[in-house]
Amino acid sequence: MRTASAAGLVDLHTHTTASDGDLSPRALVEAAAAAEVTTLAVTDHDTMAGVPEAMEAAAQRAVTLIPAVELSVQVPRGSMHLLGYFAEPAPPQVCRYLEAAGQRRRDRAEEIVARLAALGVPVDFDEVCAQAAGNVGRPHIADALVAAGHCSSRADAFRRYLNDHGPAYVGYEALTPVEAIRLIRDDGGVAVLAHPYSLGVRPGELMSAVQRLAARGLGGIEVHRPEYDAPQRRRYARMAAAFRLLGGGGSDFHGPGRGYALGNTGDPPLPAAAADRLQEALATAAR
Ligand code: AMP
Ligand code: FE
Ligand code: FE
Ligand code: ZN
Repeated sequence: MRTASAAGLVDLHTHTTASDGDLSPRALVEAAAAAEVTTLAVTDHDTMAGVPEAMEAAAQRAVTLIPAVELSVQVPRGSMHLLGYFAEPAPPQVCRYLEAAGQRRRDRAEEIVARLAALGVPVDFDEVCAQAAGNVGRPHIADALVAAGHCSSRADAFRRYLNDHGPAYVGYEALTPVEAIRLIRDDGGVAVLAHPYSLGVRPGELMSAVQRLAARGLGGIEVHRPEYDAPQRRRYARMAAAFRLLGGGGSDFHGPGRGYALGNTGDPPLPAAAADRLQEALATAAR
């Protein structure tokens, strides 16, 4: 693996059609090259299916591709996403977990669809799955309810049937944060806490949560994201320094015209040194 070129931008958080992004992995890499992003991580939600195609495309461009995933983990409130970065495109234990988790999500979606039928609002399970490029979830079922004329919008579908207390709701057990960190590390990966604000806790509480996770092997937190304001970024940078965590970040790009542009990691941007540090950590873990 090449190290980051000092000349280009670094973007360590992006999505493709393998999860909820609009660009194929190849198109993402081409867009990255056009945007002068020289180090790119593909971090699809709970799948690494887009990584091989992205690597192939990156090999034909001046782009260094870091294989990665964004895992949704179980927390009592708010939501927590952990990014896992790897030295290889198919870390074996992580891939085995993702495969099994995908199957559990399909089984759960089928159960939700059965409940909807019993409630008198049937949708076609195969069509729901066909709408889901990657892992199937409630948003896909909501869209099917709208398409079938049972609901007026996604929000309506969640309000009437699919919310956590709704009549068609079926739960889903994800990994705990500590389990996810262990899984990532066991395959030589580096675990980074994405958008820490989504935990929905006060700064002091976040500080102790990050400290606890750091003690269990968390490797970094996202310090550079375009939606942060300056005080927020400083707070996360201080946290990273206090617990010797890597300061990561990225655009969380989902597609042209959606959210922030590819390569936009805020001001100041994610430094190339961060990518070098990540690559060094991956190389060390692999040894
Ligand atoms: P799932 O992983 O299948 O449980 O679906 C979770 C996704 O559903 C979340 O990422 C949200 O995008 C969406 N979602 C969850 N609750 C609601 C809600 N009450 N209203 C609208 N969307 C929701
Ligand atoms: Fe997403
Ligand atoms: Fe996320
Ligand atoms: Zn993301």
